[in-house]
Amino acid sequence: MLKENLSKVEQNILAACEKSTRPRSEVTLIAVSKTKPAEMLQEAYDAGVRDFGENKVQEICDKYEVLPSDIRWHMIGHLQRNKVKYIIDKVCMIHSVDSYRLAEEINIQAKKHRIVMPVLIEVNIADEQTKFGVSKEDAIQLIEEAAHLDNISIQGLMTVAPYVTDAEENRKYFQEIKQLAVDIQAKNIDNVAMRVLSMGMTGDYAVAIEEGADMVRVGTGIFGERNYSRK
Ligand SMILES: *Cc1c(COP(=O)(O)O)cnc(C)c1O
Repeated sequence: MLKENLSKVEQNILAACEKSTRPRSEVTLIAVSKTKPAEMLQEAYDAGVRDFGENKVQEICDKYEVLPSDIRWHMIGHLQRNKVKYIIDKVCMIHSVDSYRLAEEINIQAKKHRIVMPVLIEVNIADEQTKFGVSKEDAIQLIEEAAHLDNISIQGLMTVAPYVTDAEENRKYFQEIKQLAVDIQAKNIDNVAMRVLSMGMTGDYAVAIEEGADMVRVGTGIFGERNYSRK
């Protein structure tokens, strides 16, 4: 089942790349494995997946212990400052930076480990009350402030678009994020490179790729529906 799901997602990614004349190699598929058991991640790993996305610190730590060490773990969920220390040496990128204080804490922990942590700024593009992330205006200010932190590297933007039944409804938001990245790039801020747009989930990743996504985060489309009650 998982293998068929994966190859279907892969076909859709290829089609979106062809439609927008982008090389497939420009797009990274992140398999969002939150709530799923390690065995399912192993199955995806065996099918070739190396990038996994998780939204809980505890889950990253648990799965990190038991799964192969060449997995690239992406922190995609809301991150509390007091938990940064548990994942700083385990993840390859933090997609969900939405405050200066969080950026500062990641910087402190990264310095302790003598690493530079790649981060993305999470933008709440549709200004939804229920979502994390900063507004477009605040994103620019946050990036300008956080740019001087030596042990983080700001590599782009992340967004969680609204839940819609027709992916076309989100196209305008993906275009807005792309434009925001272009505008920020044009400011030529030291230590800031807008080279990653992390956008697109199961319902809308094809549209996101057409609009410039470099990383798509697909959970349900690969692993099936999540069952939160069974935990
Ligand atoms: C859960 C989650 C996803 C994946 O969602 P699906 O609709 O299952 O593909 C992507 N990004 C974030 C930030 C998530 O929390």
